Amino acid sequence: MEIFDHAANWVSQQQEIILGSGVSLTSEQIVIASQVGVLRPEKIRILSVAKISPPDDPLLRKVAEEMNFLGPDTIGLTLGYGIYLREGYITDRLLSHEFRHVQQYEVAGSVQAFIVEYIQQIFQYGYYDAPYEVDARAHELIH
Ligand SMILES: [Zn+2]
Repeated sequence: MEIFDHAANWVSQQQEIILGSGVSLTSEQIVIASQVGVLRPEKIRILSVAKISPPDDPLLRKVAEEMNFLGPDTIGLTLGYGIYLREGYITDRLLSHEFRHVQQYEVAGSVQAFIVEYIQQIFQYGYYDAPYEVDARAHELIH
């Protein structure tokens, strides 16, 4: 399906940007990532941004909007080992949620494998009830 290729390309491109200019985890953040099952927390990079931008690709942007997947309220987005976080919203709860998505990428084995599964889940269950999202919420650290 065309959308899978567009999405996997976009995720890979964004991951490269974040890995190139993001920051490594602090020792406290490495503990959180390990707690939610990430195998290689040292590979994660975080890039704080004022706004998480939707894809330029028209097909992807349309699907993301229709699925309520990426909008003005989005505060975190995990792309392989790259994580976008919106400035001013960074909490342990958000970090643990996004780190769990990293764990899901690791289990899936590749960006392509994760993204195909994730899109299928969103088509089938909707964004909120997608099993990857349910699982990420179940691993949120709530103080
Ligand atoms: Zn999520």
